[in-house]
Amino acid sequence: MIITIRHEATSEERAHLMALLCRITGSQHPIATTKIAGQEVLALDHPQLAQEATLLAQQSAVERVLPIKTAYQLVSRAFKAENSSIVVGNGHDCIPVVIGGAEAPPVVIAGPCAVENREQLLSTARGVKNAGAHILRGGAFKPRTSPYQFQGLGIEGLHLLAETRQITGLPIITEVMEPDMVDVVAEHADILQIGSRNMQNFPLLLAAGRHSQKRPVMLKRGLSATIDEWLLAAEYIVAAGNPNVMLCERGIRSYDTQTRNVLDLSCVPLLQELTHLPIIVDPSHATGRRELVPTMSRASIAAGADGLIIEVHPDPNSAMCDGRQSITPEQLQSIVRMTHRLAAMLHEEKAFAHVA
Ligand code: PEP
Ligand code: MN
Repeated sequence: MIITIRHEATSEERAHLMALLCRITGSQHPIATTKIAGQEVLALDHPQLAQEATLLAQQSAVERVLPIKTAYQLVSRAFKAENSSIVVGNGHDCIPVVIGGAEAPPVVIAGPCAVENREQLLSTARGVKNAGAHILRGGAFKPRTSPYQFQGLGIEGLHLLAETRQITGLPIITEVMEPDMVDVVAEHADILQIGSRNMQNFPLLLAAGRHSQKRPVMLKRGLSATIDEWLLAAEYIVAAGNPNVMLCERGIRSYDTQTRNVLDLSCVPLLQELTHLPIIVDPSHATGRRELVPTMSRASIAAGADGLIIEVHPDPNSAMCDGRQSITPEQLQSIVRMTHRLAAMLHEEKAFAHVA
């Protein structure tokens, strides 16, 4: 259940509502409210609430009571019918980009798996910008399977990313792995990436929800997470106060070793039914093979994704990380062109369906 609080509610009226909610749910803890687009809301999931909906709606602090049947509440389509859009890059000196919503064309995020050095990052950034990409990716903190693999440049990588944004005007996305690092990453980056291995790192989700800048967060699907687990992870961030969340499908673990993961493209139209959050697809980590990236990019846009995140390296064979799945800036250019053509076609199709 979602309860929206009246702007004019006094502290006594709020306290009265909270005490009533604690009584109904048996909770000993204070119940948190969160502000979404200037509106104070409160989300709860408890079997007893449905019976008390009328009583709750009568409380003077309450504006509206919205029953939601799923465990995820604020991210649900039932709460918000229109697609959410996120403005990226407006906190820094760069070209702002809109992700999601009704009208925004698909966004292409591209760059190296890891920031390796200044020259590699700058030349990749220039290459992806030239290819038509809108946002630069690059890992400074890398979650590697083996402790002996390159772990990223850390803070130095963040500085290189910020410098590259200044030079190219491209907003940047980079991964944050620990709750205590959220503030420093948010200071440098335009989107916080929460990686697959951390999708259920709950302290990290809460920190990404609570940090003061409310930087957009790209939440990647866990290695073998169900859709509900993924949406509930997104709910943690939104309920903690940051509504700027996008989801990223990056393939799920299966038994076949031919590809790195299995790209679950059916999740795109399914998520569009269940949630209003923007959806990005990562064909690089999903397949692990660069030769599959163009086709799966095309399929992702055709399935309705709001954007792509693709690994690009000027010399993929010498990449320190994920070279096998990285493409060159030249290959990216034809993917970007394809997204434009496909987006125009889908737009036309939608307009036609509307008239018919
Ligand atoms: C990445 O994007 O570099 C990455 C590590 O992805 P994932 O968390 O999906 O494995
Ligand atoms: Mn990678």
